[in-house]
Amino acid sequence: MTKVAGLDLSLALSRAQFIQRVREAYYRDEDEAANRRRALTRVPLHVLAVTSEIYPLVKTGGLADVTGALPKALATYGIETHTLIPGYPSILALARLHPPLMEFDDLLGERATLRHLEIDGISLFVLDAPTLYDRPGGPYVDENGYDHPDNWKRFAVLSLAGAEIAAGALPGWRPDLVHTHDWQSALTSVYLRQMGSPVPVVLTIHNLAFQGQYAADLLPRIGLPPEAYSVDSMEYFGDISYLKGGLMTADHITVVSPTYAREILSPTFGMGLDGVLNTRIDRLQGIVNGIDNEVWNPSTDPYLPFRFDMKSLRNKKNNKALLLERFNLQPGDGPLFSAVTRVTWQKGMDMLAEVADEIFYRGGRLIVLGQGDHAIEDALKATAARFPGKMAVSVGYNEPTAHLIHGGSDSIIQPSRFEPCGLTQLYAMRYGCVPVVSRTGGLSETIIDANDAALSARAATGFQFHPVRPEGLRQALRRAADAYQDKRKWARLQLQAMRADYSWDRSAESYAQVYGRLTEQRFQATH
Ligand code: ADP
Repeated sequence: MTKVAGLDLSLALSRAQFIQRVREAYYRDEDEAANRRRALTRVPLHVLAVTSEIYPLVKTGGLADVTGALPKALATYGIETHTLIPGYPSILALARLHPPLMEFDDLLGERATLRHLEIDGISLFVLDAPTLYDRPGGPYVDENGYDHPDNWKRFAVLSLAGAEIAAGALPGWRPDLVHTHDWQSALTSVYLRQMGSPVPVVLTIHNLAFQGQYAADLLPRIGLPPEAYSVDSMEYFGDISYLKGGLMTADHITVVSPTYAREILSPTFGMGLDGVLNTRIDRLQGIVNGIDNEVWNPSTDPYLPFRFDMKSLRNKKNNKALLLERFNLQPGDGPLFSAVTRVTWQKGMDMLAEVADEIFYRGGRLIVLGQGDHAIEDALKATAARFPGKMAVSVGYNEPTAHLIHGGSDSIIQPSRFEPCGLTQLYAMRYGCVPVVSRTGGLSETIIDANDAALSARAATGFQFHPVRPEGLRQALRRAADAYQDKRKWARLQLQAMRADYSWDRSAESYAQVYGRLTEQRFQATH
């Protein structure tokens, strides 16, 4: 059975039959169906993804990595994704080289142009609405780190444009399914249901902590009726929540690891939405993220002065020497620990500031690359000041440096208080860095703790600690630093970590199955 035949579950249709049925479900009109068949000769399923970030064009975290990598992985299943993204300045410069696809006259009072851009094998629909997106700063914050005051409108407009495209606004193209990501595009399914469009929607939550919560009196300004302010819809503790709107209207909800899918059903991890999620439990699924093995490959990485693979792991120490020099750290035989992360309470960086001394007592060094909460950045800098030459803090976001840090460090620390999936530990393993992680969310299921049983089974890939408290982290750092002293044991851990396969293959298949099931259900409902 081919992979695609597997998509339509129990019906055992051939690939060709399946493609045919999906097409016909949406294109009953003969002419349109014929056009569609011509357009789709090579692909069975067209997907519109809607997102606020995509690698390599705009990235603040793991969301961008996923939206950048998933379409490529899904293409091998015959699924063609076009991704709608706001026209931020970095994207506009490229997108405006191409003629417009269509004009929107009125997206919540804004005019916008839709442009097409193809980059690194990713097909983008760029929403060119300069008053909303063409401004300095990041996707969510201005140059001083403050939220753009009109984020409520910027992402409502993105979602509305997504809904209009999905409902057929773009001549000659219409998706079979829509995939939205996080609160920024969660309103897409709300608008689609308002329009009466039945196109299936998958919503993926990358981090439940960000919800798009706004005052309820914005409802008319985002074009939604007063009924949307109800417990069954967007009402959320007296406000409205874009994410809740998505949760209530999407046909399927995925989160980025099975453990996180279980955790968020409890008040501890549910961030106020556990009640809602429990009512949607039949649609909730955890699918662990994969990594882009081409972007994160130590044997081809253009950012590494010294490339390596499992056979040439010793080259890593040249990168380490370079890193120590670049960050003004004293050379030494001890382990080099690093953290590449948002500097926030979620990521446990306050705990690292508190217990980093454990590393230095054991002859190690520490590099932190990240930005976020200024108080925690200051706490990290204060620790670094107490240990000159042993710890460096680089406040900022820098993709090449992130790669170099993975290429030269012995261990990556990720002491998150909660972690939907976490990608850093996956990159770390591929680069022969042994991760030190808290046992939560995706970290707990992607890292195998180096306990005696796992060590003797040659399965261990890192160090986990629980409960997630400073003392737990201290102990894990101690265990890692001790293990580093045993060179053979450490090399084994590195190789075992490098062998762990977190490419997108497995996870992409799970998404493909979800897409296939939803489109098939849609077909059944209309026939
Ligand atoms: P989250 O999305 O919660 O921030 P993930 O671990 O899922 O966490 O993904 C983080 C991504 O962002 C990784 O690709 C990581 O390398 C990258 N990253 C985080 N901070 C920085 C930084 N300061 N510089 C470069 N890359 C960073």
